[in-house]
Amino acid sequence: MQIMSRGLPKQKPIEGVKQVIVVASGKGGVGKSTTAVNLALALAANDSSKAVGLLDVDVYGPSIPKMMNLKGSPELSQSNLMRPLLNYGIACMSMGFLVEETAPVVWRGLMVMSAIEKLLRQVDWGQLNYLVVDMPPGTGDVQLSVTQNIPISGAVIVSTPQDIALMDARKGAEMFRKVHVPILGLVQNMSVFQCPKCKHRTHIFGADGARRLARTLDLDVLGDIPLHLNIRETSDTGQPIVFSQPESDEAKAYLRIAAEV
Ligand code: ADP
Repeated sequence: MQIMSRGLPKQKPIEGVKQVIVVASGKGGVGKSTTAVNLALALAANDSSKAVGLLDVDVYGPSIPKMMNLKGSPELSQSNLMRPLLNYGIACMSMGFLVEETAPVVWRGLMVMSAIEKLLRQVDWGQLNYLVVDMPPGTGDVQLSVTQNIPISGAVIVSTPQDIALMDARKGAEMFRKVHVPILGLVQNMSVFQCPKCKHRTHIFGADGARRLARTLDLDVLGDIPLHLNIRETSDTGQPIVFSQPESDEAKAYLRIAAEV
């Protein structure tokens, strides 16, 4: 893909937001949204003086409403901006609040771009220390549009250790480099599975693939998240593990990653 790295349109900060952290992945289904949600909660948990928001620009498959147990439409402020919905202390905005839950998003490019514009510019976040942005998977128009429109403090790239996921994670990393977005590091998700009965540990998607990729690209690995039933269950029930089981090893893995970003 050709990416213009020069002559980018002028970026404009989101009002009231100090730092934007994007969470990206090359492939879908590797745990990007799960990481974005738990990272947002972990940033807030690590320092209670910090206000954190979560913006879901995965317009084709918004997961944040379900993962954060939020439903409904945003109210409008006096200046006609959308007010984020709040749960677990995190201000959230998602395309999922603006379209029917079951409605498929079958939009043409222009409609997607106007939805992104709305999510980036028509939300009243108040004052935030961090806005965590859940990007769609891959390196398409939405990703480029976000990186060109707002200043981004850093990108977190999520991948499983599997070759096919890493190949696409690499493309994601190269895209961020081309558009001069600093990469904070890689998160290796689903790194190991421990059998709850016999405690045997299996590297279902391979071991250390993200570490190898990080070495090749001269990037940091921010941490490893195991493949764990509690992570899946707490996501599905809208009670993210960092909120519902903060003392668990899995939650602590997210808290350590948040301390690195
Ligand atoms: P993506 O945003 O990359 O498409 P999701 O965050 O939606 O991926 O995760 C895909 C599925 O995998 C979800 O069902 C989620 O609950 C599950 N999942 C993600 N990470 C883990 C993990 N570390 N352990 C167990 N299940 C996970």
